Amino acid sequence: MPPPNVEGLKAVASNVVSPQGRDISICNYCASDDEKMWSEGETSYATGFTALQLSCDAYQKMLDRGWRRSGTYCYKPELKHSCCPQYTIKLDGVEFKPTKSQRKVVKRWTRFVVDGDGTRPPASPTSISPNEPQFSLVSSIHEPETGWNTGQTSHKFEVTLQPMSYTAEKYALYENYQVNAHQDSHNMPYLFYRFLVESPLLGEPIPYPSPPPPHLPTHYGSYHQLYRLDGRLIAFSVLDILPTSISSVYFMYDKKWANFSLGKLSVLREAALVKEIHDAGVPDMRSVFLGFYVHSNHKMRSKGAYSPSYLLDPEEYSWHPFQDCVGLLNRHRYACFSKPQHSLDGPAGPHEEGIPVIPDDVLDDTRFAQTKEGGEVQVIPVKESDYWMDEMYMRPAMLTVMDSLGMELAKEVVFY
Ligand SMILES: [Zn+2]
Repeated sequence: MPPPNVEGLKAVASNVVSPQGRDISICNYCASDDEKMWSEGETSYATGFTALQLSCDAYQKMLDRGWRRSGTYCYKPELKHSCCPQYTIKLDGVEFKPTKSQRKVVKRWTRFVVDGDGTRPPASPTSISPNEPQFSLVSSIHEPETGWNTGQTSHKFEVTLQPMSYTAEKYALYENYQVNAHQDSHNMPYLFYRFLVESPLLGEPIPYPSPPPPHLPTHYGSYHQLYRLDGRLIAFSVLDILPTSISSVYFMYDKKWANFSLGKLSVLREAALVKEIHDAGVPDMRSVFLGFYVHSNHKMRSKGAYSPSYLLDPEEYSWHPFQDCVGLLNRHRYACFSKPQHSLDGPAGPHEEGIPVIPDDVLDDTRFAQTKEGGEVQVIPVKESDYWMDEMYMRPAMLTVMDSLGMELAKEVVFY
């Protein structure tokens, strides 16, 4: 087979993906809680593909069905068969009401930037009174920023949103964070690049009715949000800005600032950004996707602390208020919120799901792009492709991906 003509393939459609099918891996969540589980080999299953490119609209629909991306690799965990099911969680950024302790995180950082003199956070009591009249998240979040704060501040604090790029400064921060927060010393620039710089998302203009304030993004797509204190990069997040949500891909910070709960501050910033885009005339923008919520993992439980938030039902893909789900999550290994009687207990059994059946009319509409000798790209029905002929691996891989995408979305992708 000739090498794939990448530019030619990208010209074929907005969504061009290479199926990988089911993937089995060792569960990270058990391993971090209990070393013993490692040796027992608890496994987790996911369906995945590598995306050459994806429209933001298609990726939003994928998130709404439990998918997520790592670089250009997109995957959907299979919750039923997992020891630690990963539920998609989203926060309503428009209705979000920070709790007293969340407001405190914002105020503490502002106080440090404005009149702080060191890295030691001030001890309570804080300036928050129980009956504080109004707390505007958006103005409070921006208050310590240079340019917003017109008065004298002890430190210079800047937050900027920029297209994703590799720099030695970002990599140094990432390496520092992985070692300190995850005891992960297997870091390499190319892995960082693959995981947090590459993205398949196509940038598309955000339909503001009139030009937005200059600090807001003009396009949907993938970004790095950099936090600089006195010129130094102290934290950064990887964000996907999508038609109805901002998806938080990753956040890392310099451990020197760990006392300031910058991870929480970043969630509050993302909620504020959702609200600002919404209020600038984009009513569909509403949510912050906080990634996966794993009930069995205590570190992950903090994701449920932002309200109102919702969990995605693993069978119907409907959204359920977080607090309504907790009872089922406490009682069952696998919880189904739309049909509680589908919930499962006991250990995650071996994976016995067969090859999914896809209706013929969907298969007839699904396309395959192949690079011919000489580099020309030809689009053919999927049933005429070499992958389809490979009944052992590639055909099941494609059918599994289509099933996980759902029929509507399956017809919008072109396989290669
Ligand atoms: Zn597990």
